Amino acid sequence: MSNSLKNYSIPDYKELQTPCYIFDEMEFERSVNEFKKALDLNCKKSIIGYSVKTNSLPYCLIEAKKNGCYAEVVSHDEYQLARLCGFEPDRIIYNGPMKAKASFLEAVKGGAVVNIETKRELDWLNDLPSDQIFTVGIRLNINISKISPEDADGDDDNSRFGFSDESDEFRDALESLANLSNVTLSGLHIHRTAHSRSPRFYECSVAYAASVINKYNLNLKYLDVGGGYFGIFPNKPTFTDYTEAIYRPLKRTGLENLDIIIEPGNALTASCFKFISEVIDVKRVDSKTRFVTTDGSRNDVDPFFRKSDYLKDILYLNENRPIEYLQIVGGCTCLEYDRLFSLIEKPALMPGDRILYNNVGAYTLTLTPQFIRFWPRVYTLDKQGKLAEIRRPSEASDLFSTQTYK
Ligand SMILES: *Cc1c(COP(=O)(O)O)cnc(C)c1O
Repeated sequence: MSNSLKNYSIPDYKELQTPCYIFDEMEFERSVNEFKKALDLNCKKSIIGYSVKTNSLPYCLIEAKKNGCYAEVVSHDEYQLARLCGFEPDRIIYNGPMKAKASFLEAVKGGAVVNIETKRELDWLNDLPSDQIFTVGIRLNINISKISPEDADGDDDNSRFGFSDESDEFRDALESLANLSNVTLSGLHIHRTAHSRSPRFYECSVAYAASVINKYNLNLKYLDVGGGYFGIFPNKPTFTDYTEAIYRPLKRTGLENLDIIIEPGNALTASCFKFISEVIDVKRVDSKTRFVTTDGSRNDVDPFFRKSDYLKDILYLNENRPIEYLQIVGGCTCLEYDRLFSLIEKPALMPGDRILYNNVGAYTLTLTPQFIRFWPRVYTLDKQGKLAEIRRPSEASDLFSTQTYK
């Protein structure tokens, strides 16, 4: 954590209007390419599905498409957004319980990877034309305590997603699919995020998936391993650690010819977004405490309100600041607890200084509420090092214009 401009890689940052996010196109491409390389080491065929819910910025989806990713969507709304961003149905992976019948049928007919999550989807399949063959996948329920206890949160780390092979529901779903002469089961989907994000967890969950595939003699085309990976970070597992962990159990069980689908969200988006806020006021409330108010909010960089510090740089407008004992940096909302971090014995912050938050691209823009200050601006940093605004800040009229009035 530095407190200077030294490692600051963004040109003309003073020109940017705060608060704002910055999308780093080169960093995004690096993450996608590194994951591709790691998959290619082991897999004959693999697909990277960009997890839209992790960061649904349309510009980013289009970059994902340019870099060869599929769009992994978990709702009808996300499906439509992916379509608007130019993804054809056969470049979409459609997951989750929040599908709609119309887009579900469009996706199945259009050759999307559709992983069945609910029983109503099994019913919807009856509406497919009977003179063609369609393929679907199915999601398998994963209890981390049972398959990888070391990665579990407690002794019953169960899941609300997928069909369980511990109850009869997985077998029943296989049966209803087998009763449809025009539908073939072509894939199995597993997705859990273990807190540890450890390669061991993927090895265990793929081994479990393989045991289920072999138990029912399923003849599949793909295994979709889901998301939950660390991005590129020193001292963290590498993408190759993950792909090797995925491959080991497949080789052991004779399933190494399956196509592998992964659905990274965090691993692709976290590191390629920064956020900049500016100090707008400083208050002293007693002899030792200075409150620093910024135009960003914890909602922008920590919407779950769990972090106590950030990978941040402090951008002082000028030098020669007195050292302050305690500075508490807060956000722009009227919530007393919108406090981001504290500085102990650091140069005094003044209006106009800026805070640069790194690594804030995952589960931030998609979780920003319309709370007090509406959605912030987004810039992109292209590969030539040029910055351009790609989303204006939202305005009162954006909210006002979607409603009906008497
Ligand atoms: C959320 C989600 C992902 C992405 O998870 P990350 O932890 O961001 O990698 C992938 N697949 C499914 C089905 C998801 O729900």
